[in-house]
Amino acid sequence: MADEGVWYHDPDNIRAQYYTLVLDVCQNMVRRHGLPTIQGGEKLVIPKLRTTIQPKTLPGVRRNLHLAPPFLLDDYVPRYHLISSIDAAKKRSLAYAHLRECNLCPRLCGVNRYEKTGVCLIGAETVKVNTIAPHFGEEPCFQGHNGSGSVFFSGCNLRCVFCQNHDIAHQRNGFDLAPEELAEWYMKLQEVGRVHNINLVTPEHVVPQVALSILHARELGLRLPIIYNTSSFDSLESLELLDGLIDIYLPDFKVWSDETSKRLLKADNYTATAMESIKAMHAQVGDLCFTADGVAKKGVLVRHLVMPGLEDEGREIVKWLAENVSKDIMVHIMEQYFPRAHVGKPRRGVKVDVVETGGFQPSKETKTQGRYEDINRPVGLDEVASVRQAAEKAGLWRFVEAAKHGGFNI
Ligand code: SF4
Repeated sequence: MADEGVWYHDPDNIRAQYYTLVLDVCQNMVRRHGLPTIQGGEKLVIPKLRTTIQPKTLPGVRRNLHLAPPFLLDDYVPRYHLISSIDAAKKRSLAYAHLRECNLCPRLCGVNRYEKTGVCLIGAETVKVNTIAPHFGEEPCFQGHNGSGSVFFSGCNLRCVFCQNHDIAHQRNGFDLAPEELAEWYMKLQEVGRVHNINLVTPEHVVPQVALSILHARELGLRLPIIYNTSSFDSLESLELLDGLIDIYLPDFKVWSDETSKRLLKADNYTATAMESIKAMHAQVGDLCFTADGVAKKGVLVRHLVMPGLEDEGREIVKWLAENVSKDIMVHIMEQYFPRAHVGKPRRGVKVDVVETGGFQPSKETKTQGRYEDINRPVGLDEVASVRQAAEKAGLWRFVEAAKHGGFNI
């Protein structure tokens, strides 16, 4: 904010506590002149203000304005409509090249997926899909009134022992679709379902096919933003292929320590990979932005599912996001963890009559304990609250919250 009557918008310098003030001014502007487009670095010229505004003298202001500038868009054209036909052709040939030597995720299998499969067990010609439907279980800003057009891919490049979609991710139930058929389903979701977006759920291991499907769908007339809903075990090459095709990145940041990721996700180097991936996603599309209807159109929203007994890891994750990505990043601290998949299942090889080393009979507890007993319970609300408090303390302020009235909320 500088000269009288001129508003300089710079998201790096305007502190979050001034957003209420910004909203008041902009609401007046919208009433008088209609909705403006405001993006990073642009200057919004405002006719002479009647009073001189002194934001530093304002008392502490509650920060809850997700829809205030600079997070408000007057209109939105999906990014895949903005790339040239030459760039589209380059992306197609890059997608085929990746399939012939697949190092698209940190598993680095290096296989020709036309001939054999890697760790994800999915080939090159088709993807395996479990469900395609308007979905009402996503964040309100994605599901809106008509639902998020979700495509649940079968298979996964992680092996989380607590997987909340075990039957889809680990057992690979579903039907095979070529990229062109997938694009036709996106069109059905748009034309019949009237959904607000196409939401690609667990697509890390089928990125080339997804890229091809989006390019085909743009020729068919798709107009919806695309959400890449990922566990963040992505490679930079994969995200580079997606640059220009994805509008919203929806990454999970699951755990913080390497020890935990090795034990619970069966992946080395998860945390470093997730950090690198989320930074790259944010560099592509920035913080989450909405149109005036309250539906998100572009940006990053990070999810963290708080795990029982692992709230310390959650606190580290939110602190890292605030310090290394953006204090304006939108975050969903989730409390719906429930023991699934391998958690609590009987231990393999434990027999009732076994005699432990030293001649001891196994205790009743040992005999009855299931696997991963430490996470075999729902998460406590106090654990969720402690992660939320750490996030606020670190300076994060844009949270996904349940609507108090039980309906659509932004
Ligand atoms: S996407 Fe599949 S084949 Fe490719 S590196 Fe990852 S696990 Fe291996």
